[in-house]
Amino acid sequence: GRAAARCGFGAVMGSKNLKAIAVRGDKKPEIHDEENLRENIKKSLPAFIHSKDHMLGKVKYVFTGFVEDGRHGINNWRDGELNGFKENLIEEVENHVRSGKPYLCRHCYTGCVESNIIGEKRSTVWEVLAPLGSQCGVIDMHAINKAYELCNRYGIDCISAGGTISFAMEAFEAGIIAKKDTDGLDLRFGKAESMLELLKKISMKEGIGEVLGNGARSAAEHFGGKSPQFAIHGKGLEVPAHEPRSHNFLALAYATDNRGASHCSASNPRSSEEDFADLMKIRFDAKGTGRMVARRQNYTSMLNSLVMCIFSQAGYAQYYTPGDYQGISANNVVEWFRYVTGRDIDLKSFLLAGERIFNLKHLINLKRGITGKDDTLTERLLKEKRGGTSPAAENLPPLETMIEEYYECRGWDKDGKLTKEKLERLGLI
Ligand code: SF4
Repeated sequence: GRAAARCGFGAVMGSKNLKAIAVRGDKKPEIHDEENLRENIKKSLPAFIHSKDHMLGKVKYVFTGFVEDGRHGINNWRDGELNGFKENLIEEVENHVRSGKPYLCRHCYTGCVESNIIGEKRSTVWEVLAPLGSQCGVIDMHAINKAYELCNRYGIDCISAGGTISFAMEAFEAGIIAKKDTDGLDLRFGKAESMLELLKKISMKEGIGEVLGNGARSAAEHFGGKSPQFAIHGKGLEVPAHEPRSHNFLALAYATDNRGASHCSASNPRSSEEDFADLMKIRFDAKGTGRMVARRQNYTSMLNSLVMCIFSQAGYAQYYTPGDYQGISANNVVEWFRYVTGRDIDLKSFLLAGERIFNLKHLINLKRGITGKDDTLTERLLKEKRGGTSPAAENLPPLETMIEEYYECRGWDKDGKLTKEKLERLGLI
């Protein structure tokens, strides 16, 4: 299982002593044209995506690709190489392919790279391998899997936990946090036992865990000095396990998403056939990236509203699929939407509805004082090169240039505010 912890959702529930919300009904929602819906879904999805070989093979392609690409942060995003991490990860992935089995969410047609288990548990999960592995300088896969289990048991998010612990490790190495603050824990990078102990302290709000439990940005405010430059985040949310210096569109998506640095809005900017570009070819582009990211954010807003999993979509579930198949596209989803609701909607109006949702959330942010100046990332990701040998080694994302294009295509002014014309076009005034 996994915890619904990202962005503090679990913390809000925990603070209210709320463990779950159960909903029960005795009527089935009506589907306008179920027969054609099922037929169309079957036709749109090639048979190979259901095979065990494909599902497990994806794990290998994707994770090996990620590590070769330099998507994983190293030592709090400070360094470009971590001896032993890649080798251990590849061995772990091979073990996964040998002994894993597909384990999909109920009714899922596609599966994603992490919809597998070994024995009774999920393991080899990217969003823990990087944040609580390489970001903390830890290469011991057993310790990383243990950290995953602890996060799930305690109901905390692996990404934010990793981002906050790696922040603490760098602050410790810089002498900002001392052993007296950590109850004697040696927090240097690579200390797996300390990482596990700190996870427990965070979960139990014990000692330094109470400060770190509020996240890296808040902890940096607490410790002061140079420490804010070690808190790697966007709008207070710790940066997820995909290096923004390795793909410019990732940097833009993290900087502009309403929730902060999230990998779930436009980390893969492909939505429909018209923007099914090869990510490797566009990764360092600036021009066109603003339009593509905005379009994907609009599309993802619709997927969220329809309670559709983003990982079943093009670029996620089918990352590195063989042949020409690109995965489920926005055109498929619009067609299915029509079969379910009977409403005659086209892709343009579908995306317009998503745009309205995205902008409504943006308006809430503006009202709360989160403005254009917050559409950014910690300076390290924009000004310090990653180094090392991956293709990301020398790239710095040109965020300002991309934001200019992004705001223009969103119809926002230079401060990120919606223009009157935009509000009218979206029917919001
Ligand atoms: S693609 Fe989504 S719905 Fe399917 S198994 Fe993965 S997380 Fe679950």
